[in-house]
Amino acid sequence: MNQTLRPEAGLAALEARLRRDLEMLQLPAKDWVPALHRGGERVLDVAIIGAGMCGIAAAGALLFRGVSHIRLFDAAAPGEEGPWVTVARMDTLRSPKTLPGPCFGIPSLTFRAFFEAREGAAAWEALYKIPNAVWQDYLSWLIRVLGLPVAHRTRLVALAPEEGLLRLTLDTPEGPRRLLARRAVLATGRAGAGGLAWPGFVPRDLRPARAAHAYDPIDFARLAGRSLGVIGGGAAAWDNAATALEHGAASATLYVRRAELPQINKGRGSAGPAYLQGWDALDAERRWQLIAYLHDMQAPPPHETVHRALRQPGFRIELGTPVEAVRGEGPGGGVVLSLGGARPREVRHDFLVVGTGFRVDMDAVPELAAFAPHIARWGDRYRPPPGLSRPEMEAFPFLGPGFELTPRGPEAPPELGLIHLVNHGAFASHGSIASDIPGVAEAGERVARAILRGLVQAEWPAIRAALEAFDEPELATTPFFVPR
Ligand SMILES: Cc1cc2nc3c(=O)[nH]c(=O)nc-3n(C[C@H](O)[C@H](O)[C@H](O)COP(=O)(O)OP(=O)(O)OC[C@H]3O[C@@H](n4cnc5c(N)ncnc54)[C@H](O)[C@@H]3O)c2cc1C
Repeated sequence: MNQTLRPEAGLAALEARLRRDLEMLQLPAKDWVPALHRGGERVLDVAIIGAGMCGIAAAGALLFRGVSHIRLFDAAAPGEEGPWVTVARMDTLRSPKTLPGPCFGIPSLTFRAFFEAREGAAAWEALYKIPNAVWQDYLSWLIRVLGLPVAHRTRLVALAPEEGLLRLTLDTPEGPRRLLARRAVLATGRAGAGGLAWPGFVPRDLRPARAAHAYDPIDFARLAGRSLGVIGGGAAAWDNAATALEHGAASATLYVRRAELPQINKGRGSAGPAYLQGWDALDAERRWQLIAYLHDMQAPPPHETVHRALRQPGFRIELGTPVEAVRGEGPGGGVVLSLGGARPREVRHDFLVVGTGFRVDMDAVPELAAFAPHIARWGDRYRPPPGLSRPEMEAFPFLGPGFELTPRGPEAPPELGLIHLVNHGAFASHGSIASDIPGVAEAGERVARAILRGLVQAEWPAIRAALEAFDEPELATTPFFVPR
């Protein structure tokens, strides 16, 4: 903790510096978007779904550009947006602490500025990696200091075309609400492009009593003294195993298909400007080669996570051991896993965690049901050469340069292009900028610029008329003034 300043005082000083930075940069720009009304209702310029870091990045970039009639909607409670304090089970972020975060290029909005102001410079030096809750505090602070208008506990349940606009249906604490927006940004996170991946060989009815996905809420206290089986070798599989053991589970065994763990995190190797800003400059063929390569390489679990699990005596891992089938025992029993690999057999556990990540499937995004059949996927736009087919990746939507959905065919509603998918589904088209922290500022800038350009096109007559009505006399105090 800061030795000389109370945390609130440190943050107050930072916020004063931020106000001055914004004043010097003349941010935010004055709103210039002509108000649109439809049927007595003021239409939102942009509805942003999700107030996690991508939603924050998009909202801030829009506000700074003078697009201020926006609203963010998040299903979560305040301070619980994103995975960080709910289903993220690692101790710290994988990323280095030096990540600037969605700071819009302004030093006083960086994670480091926030942390040093709140905890002191010595604490910054001592910090190894960012604890999840601290990262969440930083994101909440951004929402506050940027004055982002977030409606929490509000879930988007449907988006539908309505005469050149988008009709949103929202579930709110006060009941269902419908409103109109010119554009929608879906910043709905890793699960926002098709939900959690659940393998077909695991009966769904085992969930939640005897099985859970690694990103489900899990009452780990219930697993004390029990044996846990975990499918998968990714970070979440390891962190769920470690969390269960730390809560007193008797054992946790990971079953991993691969004979060895991936060794290199190519995500880190591609976290520089060439990939973050240049990915979508590549043609489909070269992008596809990259997509297939990264898909095949996969990422290792963070070494901190591996050490954390290995510290627990009940931890076990079986590499080269695919799980081929799962069945539940009789009432009150556990789960039985049929294993393949070199030692095929059946094993029994009290509980199963499925660590198989996220799915991308536009047909499985409830809020996009009205548009799903018309959304172009990579498989519609690009035919990979022999050997490079990756069906999982062909399901990714084929997005335009501003993250907008693109039509599969001429029968698609034109409003489809008013929806910007700034979530994990953007990976194939734009790289990791809407998935991981290093690129999030670029994602916000890119979508805001595209929306601005779309608004200028849509509102050109009114914007042009405003210029003609602009009448500040520049020469009023000179002999050349001609009164009009
Ligand atoms: C466990 C975990 C650890 C990670 N660690 C790192 C890391 O160390 N470094 C890194 O670079 N990246 C990491 N990532 C990847 C990435 O940074 C995070 O997934 C991050 O949360 C992505 O931000 P986001 O804004 O896209 O989505 P989120 O933070 O998930 O925010 C999406 C928001 O949308 C809301 N939402 C979704 N659907 C709706 C709806 N229909 N209506 C209303 N609201 C909705 C959700 O409530 C949520 O708050 C991690 C991801 C996970 C899952």
